[in-house]
Amino acid sequence: MASKRSRKQAKARHYKKHRRGLRRSSAPDYRDPYRPPKRACEVFCIRCGECYPSTQMKWDSNYTLWVCKNWPSCVGAGFGVDVHETTD
Ligand SMILES: [Zn+2]
Repeated sequence: MASKRSRKQAKARHYKKHRRGLRRSSAPDYRDPYRPPKRACEVFCIRCGECYPSTQMKWDSNYTLWVCKNWPSCVGAGFGVDVHETTD
C-alpha cells in the first residue's frame, strides 16, 4: 500500500516537473510589439522612475509581458508604454 502511494506521488511529481518545464520553455517573445528594441538603449520607467539599459527589461512568461527590471515590485510594463527610451 505504501509503495502504491509513493508511485502516485512520483507520478504527481513528474507531472509538476512537466508543467514547470512548459512554463520555463515559454521563451521571451521578441515579436511582441512592446518588446525592448533590438539595439540596446537606455530606458526610463515612468512607474518607478529608474533609468537602466533596455537589456535589463524582463520577460514575464505568466503575464506574457515585457516588464520593468524591478517587476514585480514595479508594475511598469511594455517598452513604449511604461518603459521609454531616454531621449537625451
Ligand atoms: Zn519600473
